[in-house]
Amino acid sequence: MSYVDEVIEAVVKKNPAEPEFHQAVKEVLESLRVVIEANEEKFRKDALLERLTEPERVFQFRVPWVDDNGQVHVNKGYRVQFNGSIGPYKGGLRFHPSVNLGIIKFLGFEQVFKNSLTGLPIGGGKGGSDFDPKGKSDREIMAFCQSFMTELCKYIGADTDVPAGDIGVGAREIGYMFGQYKRIRSVYEGVLTGKGLSYGGSLVRTEATGYGLLYFTKEMLAMNGVDIAGKTVAISGAGNVAIYAAEKAMQMGAKVVTASDSTGWIYDAEGIDLAALKEIKEVKRARLSEYKAYRPNAEYHEGKGVWSVKCDIALPCATQNELHLEDAKTLVANGCIAVAEGANMPTTLEATEYLLENGVLFAPGKASNAGGVATSALEMSQNSERLSWTFEEVDEKLQNIMVNICHNAAAAAEKYGVKGNYVVGANIAGFEKVVDAMNAQGIC
Ligand code: GLU
Repeated sequence: MSYVDEVIEAVVKKNPAEPEFHQAVKEVLESLRVVIEANEEKFRKDALLERLTEPERVFQFRVPWVDDNGQVHVNKGYRVQFNGSIGPYKGGLRFHPSVNLGIIKFLGFEQVFKNSLTGLPIGGGKGGSDFDPKGKSDREIMAFCQSFMTELCKYIGADTDVPAGDIGVGAREIGYMFGQYKRIRSVYEGVLTGKGLSYGGSLVRTEATGYGLLYFTKEMLAMNGVDIAGKTVAISGAGNVAIYAAEKAMQMGAKVVTASDSTGWIYDAEGIDLAALKEIKEVKRARLSEYKAYRPNAEYHEGKGVWSVKCDIALPCATQNELHLEDAKTLVANGCIAVAEGANMPTTLEATEYLLENGVLFAPGKASNAGGVATSALEMSQNSERLSWTFEEVDEKLQNIMVNICHNAAAAAEKYGVKGNYVVGANIAGFEKVVDAMNAQGIC
């Protein structure tokens, strides 16, 4: 049996009931086959893939908190420090009822390669909780965040592990957690990113994942002779990534016609009203069904359906495994030319294969959504030098990073004989740097 197959089998066996983690490992290792087979003997002897797929450290803890009625609740808290070979662990915290150890491990594993691709000195980690922020009062959110940080603060630090936001964790939650860290540890340091501008945050961090996704998409299209201006774009999600992806797509001259949340989706043939979307989601924290009050001609549908809309470019920006094989078939039939992932692993393995086989340009999340964590790393730099850079300065750095990732992924794909395959290219480019650092640091 080949080394890749052996390790995939062992990962499935040793990590039962973690399907998303298995999926992420399979996707990466399968696409690295050419590189691994060329070095099979050495990698096997060094147990390189076993070390790469086993987190360096996993913390799991109890998070008790009291709701507004005096009722005590208990949630699970996690932090997985996956690979610290190229820098302090870096990656978000996700608060969502679907969170379990397998989800955090899949996200942490992806983060290792994503962070390596940014070219910045950050290792990979991820954390979170099965806490559901939906419908909670501000005081309940604060109580939860303080309790979560009371435990988490033992394992993190500006030079050790620097968490940030992800689904369910935005500026409000980061603020509450930063305050609690400071109270307990008595250190004012850049231990979290995505902070508010008044206490060490970076300009552009809010917009970074969505903007970065579009910088990448524009470059990928341009490398293939296509101009993004005038194209119709379907976006899923209505969170931070989706909103700022829509904003940048519009600035680039494209028309964004959809958005979705956990209960339904909207189709606005004339182009989404971004100010309305921001007000509904960022200010009111309400459902997308409210959109019709702003735009009576738009359609609101319950359930899923964004990928049934005719578009040139599809940007899945909601969550993992939201774009299935059937959706991929519909997109291809409707003439879609590019799919770029804003979320982490939103496309299933079968759907990705189908899109690639049918000549659709496909940008994997670990490359195309790396703008968020890259800008987090820029926030860390600013915190270290106790300075703040201008919007233009950060935005220019972000653009350069995304364009470089795109070119590096394309070059790696071409070098290994799969020109135009950004999945293989991104995995190889991310992998090579991590392996180099791991080898240099000995068996650890
Ligand atoms: N949660 C984001 C991601 O998936 C950002 C992480 C960070 O900024 O550290 O990459």
